Parts: sequence; C-alpha cells; structure tokens
Amino acid sequence: MTSDKIKTLFHFIQEARAIVVFTGAGISTESGIPDYRSQGGIWQRFQPVTIQEFLASHEKRQQYWQRKIVLFQDTQTAQPNEAHHALTALARQGKIKGLITQNIDGLHTKSGFPKDKILEIHGTNQEIKCLSCSKIYSWETVFQCLDAGQDVPLCPGCRGYLKPNTISFGQNLDVNILEKAFLWSRTCDLMLAIGSTLVVQPAAGMPRIARSHDARLVIITLSETPLDSIADLKFEESCSTVLQQVMQCFNANPGK
Ligand SMILES: [Zn+2]
Repeated sequence: MTSDKIKTLFHFIQEARAIVVFTGAGISTESGIPDYRSQGGIWQRFQPVTIQEFLASHEKRQQYWQRKIVLFQDTQTAQPNEAHHALTALARQGKIKGLITQNIDGLHTKSGFPKDKILEIHGTNQEIKCLSCSKIYSWETVFQCLDAGQDVPLCPGCRGYLKPNTISFGQNLDVNILEKAFLWSRTCDLMLAIGSTLVVQPAAGMPRIARSHDARLVIITLSETPLDSIADLKFEESCSTVLQQVMQCFNANPGK
C-alpha cells in the first residue's frame, strides 16, 4: 500500500528536471557505519585531533592514526544500502544534477553513483594524501608503512606526513567544492536532503538556499531538523524504507 506522501514524492521526482541530493550520516548508519557525532559515537570514545595538533605533535599523530584505522575497518566492511542504490538508479535515469555528501565513507561511489556528480564536502576516507607534496595514495601504502614499523605513515616520495583525504577539525572546507555545491543548490528544482540533521554549517544551509530559489525541498531523516517548517515534504523514517518505496512506484509506472 503506497502512502499519499510517497506518491507525492514520486510525482516531485517525476516532475523534476534537476535534482540535487544532500546526504548526511543517517544514510550511512543504515549500512552499519557509526554516526560519529551521536551519543556513544566514536568522537566520545576518542578525543578528536585537530590539524594543528596533528602537525605539531608526534603523539597526536599516533592517536589520530589509531582512530583512523578503526574507522577505516568500519567503512571497508560496510556495503551501500537500498537508499544508496535508489539514488544511483535515479542518477542512471538522468534525474540527478549532483549529489553533495557530508559522508567520508565512499558508499555512494561504491554503489555505482557517477563519481563526477559527487561532491564530498568533508573529503573521503578512501584515499590518502601527503600533506607536503599532495600526492594521493591508497590505503595499501599506509599498511606498507605500518608493516615497515612506522607508527605514523610517511610519504614514500617526500617523507611528508600522510593523512586520509578528509577535512580534519580545525581545517577549512575546500572552497572550490563548496562553491560548486552552492551553485548546484541555487540551480536545482528539487533538493532531497537525506539522513542529515541539517545543523552542521555551512553545508546545512544548502537546502535552505535551494528552497529560497524556488526548488522543492524534501527532507528524509529520523530526527527533527531546523528546516522542517520550510520543507514541502518531511519523512521521519529510515532513508532506505522511503527511497525503496519510491523506486517501487517507478517500477510500477515504467516509462514515466
Ligand atoms: Zn609527499
């Protein structure tokens, strides 16, 4: 039995020419990735290390890497869920202008979502960057460094510090990525905000910008958000349940 709300969302998606999707931790928790900001989350077990501390102290670099290896193991075993797959299916129909994500786990890419349409505003845990020469490495390089007895992996090329290519505490977001994300937000006609509590700025402002440029705004997340009152539709349900039901509407109405 398809609810009226699901039908409305289906119609919004059908009518849209340029959908922008904004995703947060909630879409990944359904794949078993802990929400780092939640009660009992990993940031409460480990004190976060700022980029300034990382650069200044060997002990902080050790702490940082110990935590990152735990996180990496969480993300490697996680698989995309029905919500990721539904978004990828919509992208393949040419419906999606772009996807902006706060997540660093690479699950959208893993689900086959076109990489050139993803903006990872907090970076990605899936690659390693040298802080000195900016060369990108894979995790394989980190494990080779650890095997060779380094407790803080160093760039094989220039001996600079290696770090996952994510935005650390105390580090600014990438201006070019942000500009593109804001441009997408201003020029979409439907914004789907999925699994985000929409409180971490500046990213959380993107759905508001879309709405103020006459795009429809649909929020799918388990909690209340500060933007609920301006949303055209709000689902306080699991992302995968909602998106799976919408995809069933597409399957029941082929060619639409
Ligand atoms: Zn280097």
